[in-house]
Amino acid sequence: MDHFALQDGVMHAEDVPLPRIAEEVGTPVYVYSRATLERHARVFRDALSDVPDKLIAFAVKSNPNLAVLKVLQKQGYGADCVSVGEMRRALAAGMAPEMIVFSGVGKTARELSEALEAGIGQFNIESEEEGLELAKIAASMGKTAQCALRINPDVDAGTHDKISTGKADNKFGVPIDQAGQIFGMLASHDSVNLRGVAVHIGSQLGELAPLERAFEKLGTLVKSLRGAGHTISHVDLGGGLGVPYKRGDQLPSPAEYGAMVARVTKDWGVSLIFEPGRVIAGNAGVLLTRVVRVKRGLNNPFVIVDAAMNDLARPALYGAYHDFAAVEPRGAQMTANIVGPICETGDTFAMGRECDLLESGDLAVFRTAGAYGATMASSYNSRGFVAEVLVDGDKFAVVADRIEASAIMDAERVPDWLA
Ligand SMILES: *Cc1c(COP(=O)(O)O)cnc(C)c1O
Repeated sequence: MDHFALQDGVMHAEDVPLPRIAEEVGTPVYVYSRATLERHARVFRDALSDVPDKLIAFAVKSNPNLAVLKVLQKQGYGADCVSVGEMRRALAAGMAPEMIVFSGVGKTARELSEALEAGIGQFNIESEEEGLELAKIAASMGKTAQCALRINPDVDAGTHDKISTGKADNKFGVPIDQAGQIFGMLASHDSVNLRGVAVHIGSQLGELAPLERAFEKLGTLVKSLRGAGHTISHVDLGGGLGVPYKRGDQLPSPAEYGAMVARVTKDWGVSLIFEPGRVIAGNAGVLLTRVVRVKRGLNNPFVIVDAAMNDLARPALYGAYHDFAAVEPRGAQMTANIVGPICETGDTFAMGRECDLLESGDLAVFRTAGAYGATMASSYNSRGFVAEVLVDGDKFAVVADRIEASAIMDAERVPDWLA
């Protein structure tokens, strides 16, 4: 459920008419709903009410906007970060360092030491090599790094190849059959407190079975690590729960996920960490765009909008589907190709899509753009970065300024020897 709906024939975000935001902030613009973010945060937490000891760490990469992080911080969420850039955002949003988890396959030495300095709650170590480097850096700083070892459970998440992370040939984590040996080797270093294991098998998962298989494998590993004399107090179950991009898509609910987790982990006797991203932020945002013009096509007309693949990359990157709807629907429908202005055929949001009838100058939204939307933007074609707005009831605020293409050009220079 979200808070983007028609009121008197005009789409609103909560109680703010979208044409007002377009008027005041311009288009394209991302619009987030605070009520939706809070609702999703609550639903996910309530779904885990049978898990006694837990930390919910929002996957910052899905939507790193400071105001979004602040909303979630107020909901008691921590953060899962994959760079120190994200860690700084989580800290700036007021998240306690102990509630920050640092994941990612290529953490640099500088990032590791900055995160140690900040006193973050857990490093999810992705390789033996990274663990050794962290141990060395922590020792030199006189610190102990709280760590979990990320396991690659060799489970096919059944999602898009580019967002699958738990198959044996993916770059993430250590192979599960070598985990015991690597764990033992890293645990012997005093400057790391290797207290658990972590897993994250992919994103936009449409069923629970692959997650359950991964968690069961992890449970077996925990037993065998304990058998080898290790103390396991924390297990990080990652994120990955999918969201409905298409009306009527059937996906596992947070409640079903929570029930499965409670069942599989009931004897583990650990503190669990969760890293949801998309399921919290996805349906809490839309990308508001204006139709530049409608061009006749061979079969269907092209609806050319002012948003493009640089603003919302998912369709070009993964062939992803985003619902597309008029802000002030006329009641009539059309079949159209919905495209952006960028000089790439990949800048296509949909071909042959049945949608509201649109004309030049009309406003429309791409739905479910709150996760992996603004954060994946680029400035390709010398387009700037779009603004982001947060709505709360009948008020709204610009929570990220539009960065004009000219500001990006201002950071470039022609050297003297070329002038
Ligand atoms: C991307 C990512 C997540 C979040 O995934 P969602 O599908 O958005 O829930 C969680 N943990 C890690 C390690 C990630 O890389």
